[in-house]
Amino acid sequence: MLLEVTNLVKEFEKGKPVVNRVSFNLFEDEIFALLGPSGCGKTTSLRLIAGFESPDDGEVKLNGKTLSTPQMQVPPQKRGIGFVFQDYALFPHMSALDNVAFGLNHLPRHKRKVFAEEVLCRTGMGDYKDRGPSELSGGQQQRVALARAIAPKPQLILLDEPFSNLDAMLRDSTRKEVRAILKKAGMSAILVTHDQEEALSFADRIAVMNNGRIEQIGTPEEVYYKPKTKFVAQFLGRTNLFEVEAGGSNEIETNIGPIKLDCNACGRVVCSIRPEHLTIEKPNGSSPEKTGLIVGREFKGHDITYHVLLKGERYIVHTDNRILFNPDDKVVLRVLEPAVVLQESMN
Ligand code: ATP
Repeated sequence: MLLEVTNLVKEFEKGKPVVNRVSFNLFEDEIFALLGPSGCGKTTSLRLIAGFESPDDGEVKLNGKTLSTPQMQVPPQKRGIGFVFQDYALFPHMSALDNVAFGLNHLPRHKRKVFAEEVLCRTGMGDYKDRGPSELSGGQQQRVALARAIAPKPQLILLDEPFSNLDAMLRDSTRKEVRAILKKAGMSAILVTHDQEEALSFADRIAVMNNGRIEQIGTPEEVYYKPKTKFVAQFLGRTNLFEVEAGGSNEIETNIGPIKLDCNACGRVVCSIRPEHLTIEKPNGSSPEKTGLIVGREFKGHDITYHVLLKGERYIVHTDNRILFNPDDKVVLRVLEPAVVLQESMN
C-alpha cells in the first residue's frame, strides 16, 4: 500500500467539516481520482495529503510512515510528494529547463540540467527547453509543470484540476499524454476534478465525493454502471431513476413493464438505468398504455439521445445512429440490462 488516508476531517469553521471522515488507500503505480462538484472538499483533501493544511482528525500515511495527524505534520517539501497546480505555477522568469532543474538540488550542480533535459524529453518538451513559460502554449506549460513535478522522483504526484485551463481539444490530448507519461514512469497519482469524463478516462479508480464525504470508490466501470447512491448515479452522467415498491424479488413493475433488478429488493426502492441500457422500437401492436411518444431528439453523429414521454414520465434513451425516429413518433421502450438498486446517500 502506498498511501493510506484514514478518517480525515477538516473544519475551517467549528462544526462545519468540509472534509468529513474521508478514507481511501492508494496502491503503487495507481492513478486515483477525487471527483465531485465544486465545493465538495476535493482540493482540501489533496492539500491535507500534500501537507498544505493540517487535519482536525485522522491520519495520512505514505509507505507506512505517518505524514499527518492533528498533532504532527511532516512539512510538504519533506513528504516525497509532487504537486501540479491548475495554473501550472511555473517560474515566469526561468526557461523550461531551469524550471525543471530547480527542484533537483539533491543532485550535484553539473548533473541537474542534464537530468532536467532528460525528463523534459520524456514529456515531449525537449525541443522547448530554452523557452520561457510565456513562449509556451497552455498544454506545453502543463507538460513542463509535470516534468518539474516528476523530476525529483516523488513517490506520489498530486494533480489539482491540471487540465481545466486548456481548451477541449488540447485537454483531451494532454490528458492522454500525461496518463501515458505517469504510467510509463510507474508513478502513482491523485487527480482532483469536477469533470466526470476526465475522471472516467484518466483514473484506474475513482472516489466520488459529495459534501465532504466519499459516497463511492470503484473502477470507472463500477462507479458508472453500478452507482451506489442517487448522487453518484446522477453525477456520473445522465440516468433514468425509478422509485417503486419492490416485493422481495429481483423484478419490479414499472410504466415500461416488468424490469429486472441487479439484486432482490423489498419495500420502497430507487433504482437507476443508464440511457444506453434502454432502447426504443416501433409499437407493432403493443397496448396503448405501453406506448410512449418521442418528445425530444439530440443527434450527436455517432449516437442519438431520445426523450420519450410515457404516462407522464420522461425517459432518456441513447441509441446508436441506426435507430432512427422523429419527434412525435410513437415507440415502446425496451430494457437491455437490469436496473441498479440505489442506497440512501450519507448526506
Ligand atoms: P472546487 O472544485 O470549486 O475547487 P473543491 O471540491 O475542491 O471545489 P474545496 O476547495 O476543498 O472544494 O473547498 C471545500 C469548502 O471549503 C468550500 O466551501 C470552500 O469555500 C471551503 N474552504 C476551502 N479552503 C478554505 C479556507 N482556507 N478557509 C475557509 N474555507 C475554505
